[in-house]
Amino acid sequence: MHLAGWLLVAALAAGGDDIASARAVFQANLDAIRNRDRDVYLSCYLNAQTLARTGPEGFTLGYEPFAAQAGDGWPDLFEASSMQLVPVRPGVVYGTYRYRVRYGADEQTGISERLFIKTDTRQPYGGWRIAMTSALPALAGTPPPPRALAGGTLLDGTGGPPVADAVVVVRAGKIDCAGPRAACPVPAGVEVVDTSGKWITPGLIDAHVHFSQTGWADGRPDALDLRDAHPYEGTQAELRAHPERFFRAYLCSGVTAVFDVGGYPWTLSLRETAEADTRAPHLAAAGPLLSTRDHWLNLPAERQFIFLKDAASAREGVAYLKSRGADAVKVWFIVSEPGSFEELSAAVMEAGSAASAAGLPLIVHATGLREAKVALKAGAKLLVHSVGDVEVDQEFIDLALKTGAIYCPTLTVRDGYGRMAHSVAQNVPPEVDDPHGCVDPGTLDKIRSTPVAGKGEVTPEESDRRAARIASGRVTMSNNLKRVVEAGIPIAMGTDAGNPLTLHGPSVYAEMEAMQAAGLTPMQVLVASTQGGARAMGRLQTLGTLAPGKAGDLLVLSADPSADIRNMRQAVQVMRGGVLRRIEEFAPAF
Ligand SMILES: [Zn+2]
Repeated sequence: MHLAGWLLVAALAAGGDDIASARAVFQANLDAIRNRDRDVYLSCYLNAQTLARTGPEGFTLGYEPFAAQAGDGWPDLFEASSMQLVPVRPGVVYGTYRYRVRYGADEQTGISERLFIKTDTRQPYGGWRIAMTSALPALAGTPPPPRALAGGTLLDGTGGPPVADAVVVVRAGKIDCAGPRAACPVPAGVEVVDTSGKWITPGLIDAHVHFSQTGWADGRPDALDLRDAHPYEGTQAELRAHPERFFRAYLCSGVTAVFDVGGYPWTLSLRETAEADTRAPHLAAAGPLLSTRDHWLNLPAERQFIFLKDAASAREGVAYLKSRGADAVKVWFIVSEPGSFEELSAAVMEAGSAASAAGLPLIVHATGLREAKVALKAGAKLLVHSVGDVEVDQEFIDLALKTGAIYCPTLTVRDGYGRMAHSVAQNVPPEVDDPHGCVDPGTLDKIRSTPVAGKGEVTPEESDRRAARIASGRVTMSNNLKRVVEAGIPIAMGTDAGNPLTLHGPSVYAEMEAMQAAGLTPMQVLVASTQGGARAMGRLQTLGTLAPGKAGDLLVLSADPSADIRNMRQAVQVMRGGVLRRIEEFAPAF
């Protein structure tokens, strides 16, 4: 070999040594942040006037001012990934990594740099020190670093057989590969999360929620009127100002996408905010609903109910929704006055044809068999309630199969009204089923106050009658669900969250368990709660299963949900848009 070649080899070897030395300081530096060790942290930096720091606010110089404030505010969570190092010249190494930190509820992500130099000082770190440091927050929408989850059992949301020792690679926030290790090898340089002994499913989808409702009586004064203590306009203002409480509760409960199927016009603008935020679920919204009942529950200058009384109001309502960019036309088909069925059916049919002309899917709330059949004839793509009055018949099945409608059984929402009435009648606060502590303190306070707030509004006899009605309705709904599933009609899981005691987030557990109790296999419930929900939202292209190109939304569970859907309660991590977080990060107490 020529001399020049030898020199190159020698330089590369020296570069390798330098990298190892710089890496040791780098690691000590990051560990010190994690361990909140100020002395170790400072020992990594060059004690000189020329120590340079760059951040969003610009450039600062000098070790003294840096040391004076070091350790003032350690992050509550510190995650470093994608560490890269390169030798610049002998004794000089450049390094960078990506960070995700939490200071209380405030999360920051970004990229951070270090310049390492070799000094004359021997200790510590063989004289290597950080001479320059920077931390720059990422722009909103910057995809997270790639990740591979390896070794777990994959349930991909399609209902196919579980894949043991699976690998899921997520890149730029999307699924890159998901399958057996042989088909999805872990790419070099990608950080690996060991998921052996765990199960991986797509994130859950709740296809029936209402952000215009709180999960308590204050959002539904038509059910229990507490407006003296909880004025409705105040309740609505708060809902609009703080949707993030519910966003967090959804992620905390493993729900990474939701369909708001009816509410005030502002619910439409939640979509963009939620889409861009990996701490919020993907969101579709139908906006104000067309109601065959002239419902009074509106605000003086805002409506969540548009009165659907005839063909003209149907066309006007649909045109409004189209102009606002709604994802669907939602119709509340409720016949409150006998004799008006034919007339209202005609209005619903008109809404269906206007929706179809506008290119919007029709969603119908119809709990009676005859209303549900009209809904299907009107072209409904999604029925957001069970048929609950009588058992479904062959005509219903045939209509649903013909139109390809999705059936969202919403089995448990009435239980919430029943439990609220029971709480008032028996003077005991209702129980909250929230295994990960996801529900915000304000909502919990309201729930605890139920017996006092509603005192005298429900007698024990009324509460018992209501409970009996709900129980018998549940039998019909469960039988219908089983029949509908056997007929091959696609199912989507939905809770009707926002209704009293159907809490945004954790109410998915009871709903999925009720579906299993109705006779669905755990796998059928899982598919309805993932792929089915994505289909209901019209987002099967991007959500609902773990297939290449779809959103990096998934759950890591410590128990097998295909053995028992109750194991969905055992989620330990949730990934949304490629960012993997522990469930606890979403609890309000974090
Ligand atoms: Zn609803």
